[in-house]
Amino acid sequence: MNSASSCGMPCTRHRVVIVGGGAGGLELATRLGDKLGRRVDVTLIDRERVHVWKPKLHEIAAGSMDMSAHEVAYLAQAHRHRFRYRIGAMTGLDRMRREVQVAASHDEAGREVTPRRVFGYDTLVIAVGSQSNDFGTPGVSAHAMRLESQADARRFHACMVNACIRAHAQTGPLRPAQLKVAIIGAGATGVELAAELHRTTREVVAHGLDRVDPDKDLEVSVIEAGARVLPALPPRLSRAAEDLLVKLGVRVHTGARVAEVLHEGVRLADGRVLPAELVVWAAGVKAPDFLKELDGLESNRINQLVVRPTLQTTRDDDVFAIGDCAAAPWLGKPEGTVVPPRAQAAHQQASHLVKTIERRLRAQAPQPWRYRDFGSLVSLGEYSTVGNLMGALSGRNLWVEGLFARWMYLSLYKLHELALHGFWKTAVGTASRVLARSTEPRVKLH
Ligand SMILES: Cc1cc2nc3c(=O)[nH]c(=O)nc-3n(C[C@H](O)[C@H](O)[C@H](O)COP(=O)(O)OP(=O)(O)OC[C@H]3O[C@@H](n4cnc5c(N)ncnc54)[C@H](O)[C@@H]3O)c2cc1C
Repeated sequence: MNSASSCGMPCTRHRVVIVGGGAGGLELATRLGDKLGRRVDVTLIDRERVHVWKPKLHEIAAGSMDMSAHEVAYLAQAHRHRFRYRIGAMTGLDRMRREVQVAASHDEAGREVTPRRVFGYDTLVIAVGSQSNDFGTPGVSAHAMRLESQADARRFHACMVNACIRAHAQTGPLRPAQLKVAIIGAGATGVELAAELHRTTREVVAHGLDRVDPDKDLEVSVIEAGARVLPALPPRLSRAAEDLLVKLGVRVHTGARVAEVLHEGVRLADGRVLPAELVVWAAGVKAPDFLKELDGLESNRINQLVVRPTLQTTRDDDVFAIGDCAAAPWLGKPEGTVVPPRAQAAHQQASHLVKTIERRLRAQAPQPWRYRDFGSLVSLGEYSTVGNLMGALSGRNLWVEGLFARWMYLSLYKLHELALHGFWKTAVGTASRVLARSTEPRVKLH
């Protein structure tokens, strides 16, 4: 295995290695590079070349997002913000030698681009995110799509457009499953995708595929094992979201546990079969499997690395974990409560670690991080946004809906863009996107 010092030469500077350039890791690398890049060797490792903020994936899947306006190429970002980017998937860790092990990377034709390598660190931050959890349900890997990466979202979109074109071109009647989409899991991902799909499938068909009747032929359903949609959020929010989905014509099946995903449909535990041409698995959350046994670090039953309030892993002061892959204690809540896997948590943790790493350089002890819950917002595409905001001072729940909620929802992404690009680039980018939107078709057909 090649040994690649992260700075490419013998290093005397403090080496910070961040694995995973998502909502948490990329903000951390950017801000550390800006602040400390002249004094500290900052390296970001990611298995992808380009970053897209994950809460935008359902918009890519539905075809309502202009990818080029929202992608961030890691190499360019690293160049602008004084950190290094190295491609590859982390596979292991040697804590004694303080080395991260990274697999070889390959191009689309399968040719090796980079060999297996190791990267030395003084401070390691693991920020590799999470994935959906199929709990071993039969048929998921063979027949369901996931929404975890840009590639997944693009694949789904291509399948959806092809399904519409195929249905338009065929002379015979539609099969029972044809043009039906089943989304398994009515968390924020499933609910947002359902609302977005309802609109975009109609827009696709409106581009001259006139033999498809959207109201008769197209069907989107959401299947949830729990008693209500958005089970992790307050009941009032669930009711508002479900009412809106039903009003749109989305079929909502709650209390419906999926027993198996079939070639063209979903079999429920009560024996019913719901026909569907496209099935999306958007239920459950777990951290990547390789964290389960990462050189003796403590992990929980969903593979998250268990961290202390300082975000240091419980068994190694030099290894931190942030974002969805970390089980961080939620201070001020009953013992054992962990911070939920949300973009706002990853964002706050990244900001905290910038200060922690500055303190480490001054040989000062890290301070505990406290999660500030600003509430949850769920975007139902152009139809509405609903959510609850936590009163920062009173701790009370404030119900929000409509334009104000939409604005709050968008501001979470703006915070991410601000952390990556600064004020001016974010402002100019936003303005040009608003202008472009008024002249371009709103749905992408590729
Ligand atoms: C469709 C969807 C909608 C969502 N909507 C919302 C929302 O509205 N509000 C909200 O708060 N949260 C939302 N979330 C959750 C939110 O996206 C996550 O909480 C957040 O992205 C977590 O940030 P992270 O940095 O931990 O991980 P991620 O942002 O997932 O980034 C992980 C990074 O690690 C990289 N990586 C993974 N494995 C490896 C490896 N082995 N080696 C190297 N690199 C690796 C990945 O390529 C990725 O770049 C949504 C999630 C999805 C999927």
